[in-house]
Amino acid sequence: MAKYTPMMEQYLSIKAEYPDAFLFFRLGDFYEMFFEDAKKAAEELEITLTSRDGGKERVPMCGVPYHSAEAYIERLIEKGYKVAICEQVEDPKAAKGVVKREVVRVITPGTVIEEKMLADKENNFLVALATDGRAHALAAGDLSTGEWYVTQLEGSLDRLMDETGAYRPREVLLDPALAGDRHFQKRLGMRLGCLFTPMTEEKLGNAGELEAALAQQFPSAKEVFTTALLVRAGGMLLRYLQDTQKRSLRHLNRVRRYDARQFMILDEAARRNLELTATLKDGRRQGSLLWLLDQTATAMGSRMLRQWLDKPLVNKEAIEERQDAVQAFLDDLLLLEEVRERLKEVYDLERLAARIAYGSANARELQALRRSLEALPALRQVLARVDCPPLRMMGEHMDVCADVAELIARAIEDDPPVSVKEGGLIREGYHPHLDRLRTAQREGKNWITQLERREREATGIKSLKVGYNKVFGYYIEVTKANLRHLPEGRYERKQTLANAERFITPELKEKEQLILEAEEKSVELEYQLFTEVREQVARQIPRLQKLAEQVARLDALQSLAAVADRYGYVRPVIRTDGRLRIEAGRHPVVEAANREEPFVANDADMDPEDRQILLITGPNMAGKSTYMRQVALITLMAQIGSFVPAKRAETPIVDRIFTRIGAADDLVGGRSTFMVEMAETCQALTQATKQSLILLDEVGRGTSTYDGMSLAHAIVEYIHDHVGAKTLFSTHYHELTRLEETLPRVVNVHARCVEKDGKVVFLHRIEPGRADRSYGIQVAELAGLPPEVIRRAKVILDQLEGQSETAATVQQLELFPTVPEPETRKEKVPEPELSETEREVLKELAEWDLMGSTPLD
Ligand code: ADP
Repeated sequence: MAKYTPMMEQYLSIKAEYPDAFLFFRLGDFYEMFFEDAKKAAEELEITLTSRDGGKERVPMCGVPYHSAEAYIERLIEKGYKVAICEQVEDPKAAKGVVKREVVRVITPGTVIEEKMLADKENNFLVALATDGRAHALAAGDLSTGEWYVTQLEGSLDRLMDETGAYRPREVLLDPALAGDRHFQKRLGMRLGCLFTPMTEEKLGNAGELEAALAQQFPSAKEVFTTALLVRAGGMLLRYLQDTQKRSLRHLNRVRRYDARQFMILDEAARRNLELTATLKDGRRQGSLLWLLDQTATAMGSRMLRQWLDKPLVNKEAIEERQDAVQAFLDDLLLLEEVRERLKEVYDLERLAARIAYGSANARELQALRRSLEALPALRQVLARVDCPPLRMMGEHMDVCADVAELIARAIEDDPPVSVKEGGLIREGYHPHLDRLRTAQREGKNWITQLERREREATGIKSLKVGYNKVFGYYIEVTKANLRHLPEGRYERKQTLANAERFITPELKEKEQLILEAEEKSVELEYQLFTEVREQVARQIPRLQKLAEQVARLDALQSLAAVADRYGYVRPVIRTDGRLRIEAGRHPVVEAANREEPFVANDADMDPEDRQILLITGPNMAGKSTYMRQVALITLMAQIGSFVPAKRAETPIVDRIFTRIGAADDLVGGRSTFMVEMAETCQALTQATKQSLILLDEVGRGTSTYDGMSLAHAIVEYIHDHVGAKTLFSTHYHELTRLEETLPRVVNVHARCVEKDGKVVFLHRIEPGRADRSYGIQVAELAGLPPEVIRRAKVILDQLEGQSETAATVQQLELFPTVPEPETRKEKVPEPELSETEREVLKELAEWDLMGSTPLD
């Protein structure tokens, strides 16, 4: 039977180790792909599929040129694939048989460090999840910045999903238990749209091995990875990075364990509905809260701010520390300006550090690092004169790594080339031997310039010149017209051109040899010196990372201050008693996005004791959901340490925000609007605590009126009686407003409108009490529905209102019983609550002698 060629055999055996990645198999100047990989890559990359004789059969093949591979890899990664780079690891000339090849790195969506494949203002976290059924552990690492976090949680897998969502990972590693849970993957996949990499027990290794690996990587491993689950999640992440990167991961040396309870929980729905980092409409950053708050000067600062938004604080002192810093900037706007200016000179230290650790930074990047470091002493000086302790301390504790800057300044040219293998990197005076080689080159070149002058004089040929090309090296060129002036045998003939002859002399070749040798040696030496310098810098990475974090934090704080200054925000008082009081609050983004129309400020007053639930009525477009969001956003902003858009604000510390807003169909998940609505509401009802904030926007509208109304009613009651969370509940069901009478902690407010010349005018003012009517037809008219429809609707409405006066009353009586005790409310069939007159009328009717009366009676 025919066999595959030895090279194909080699390919197949390597491919077997990387079944889930495209194997880029280096063949000369190309990366080739074979078999299924080739077919799929040809399709995904729109490149030509060919074939190659594989011995046993013709094998499908396609390839990309080595020098432009990065763009293709980028596209595959973007699509959520992995790429294994397989290089020739011995010199083909020296090889006996097939050249040895090895996979040198596997690039995956969660492990890219290439600048082009990363968004500079976003982290790229790879997350590993482990569970034992009751508890779960999460490890999140960003290879491009060196950050690494771990935590352990209790509770349902939903909690684990929410926590995972905070990192927005592009790739998630699952321990064998989760890898077997299809349902979990489907749900998490739907929320995050990420790539899953399941881990088998075999790949993972045993707990002892994982622990040892962690201990080797992190000096603090013993204090951090204290449970079997943490070891499992952390070890899994580390294992995977080692297996895919196959190189030093020394910039990952700091790991932080946190308690998820240190932060506010935000699930996907809340993040989405509150438009924290992307808008609902088009998923873009512009128009989101992050977009508004991000006035950072560095990419690190921007990423830090995003992390703050993803994880608002729940600790009063920690919040107030940030507030103090923001306040200090606002008290001294000149300081703010100065800090901003200084920060603008700082490059992405975190990612520079990662690339240096990786050995992929070039000389330009080292110079960028140096310039960044050189900007910092001035920044430190600015901070030294600040009155605010947290800021001043930040300055005092800032190690600006002057030695690193000095080393780079001494060693590397100011404006080096991109390539590190062609010389021109190392500064004169840095290394004596390099200087000597360079002198030799210079002297040789001088000799050659002089040779030209000398020979011109000796031969009298003015146009004689000395030139150089890669094939022949140095030569003397004489035009045909002048050849007759050249004494016979003076030079050796080398090349004949159309109108000139080129010559050499033994002496010229000798000098050439010297120059070229010196050049080659100096390029080699320069590369060696450069990598030594990079290595020396790499040893300082922990310091650089710490510095980067300080700078990022400072940047995020100044950004909050800049925004507060620009939009006139105030410092909220953080309350631990659950009280929320906002005077003249505004929606930060609506206000900023539409500066022509003045935003109408509104108060909010909530309190767990007597104003727990605000029931908001008012027509469509009146500003109900804007108001609800505004209250949530102000609370959330307060908890990241930001100032808030209001005249005065006292905000509670909220442990979690739940939202049920808008009609987002979960088409991918195949759930109807109503189903999604109920699922999100269910989350709130089952998981909220007294410290939570719930926004429910027109819950129940996805089904028939009575169904919806009954559900809405029961939900409000439930939150009131059993959950205790502060809740903003907007509704179209005016009937619900009667709950205020029966539930002591429910308060009606409404978005006020007035009618002017038969048209509704939205005042966008939230006022006490309930809305008198819903203005549905007027809103429809504003929306431009044809006049016939509007006219007809009005007629029908009049009729309905006339007819149903009595019917409606009965409805309400049934729906709104007056049995205030929660325990009995469920079981007892309510008795209608009637006024004195109504009772009398009923009594009279009951006693009426129908048989003995006339129609007129
Ligand atoms: P509802 O939820 O009652 O249907 P929205 O909150 O969606 O209404 O608001 C409708 C529109 O009115 C929004 O597009 C918003 O721009 C504007 N709006 C809402 N509240 C205010 C306000 N307080 N000041 C100015 N404009 C507002």
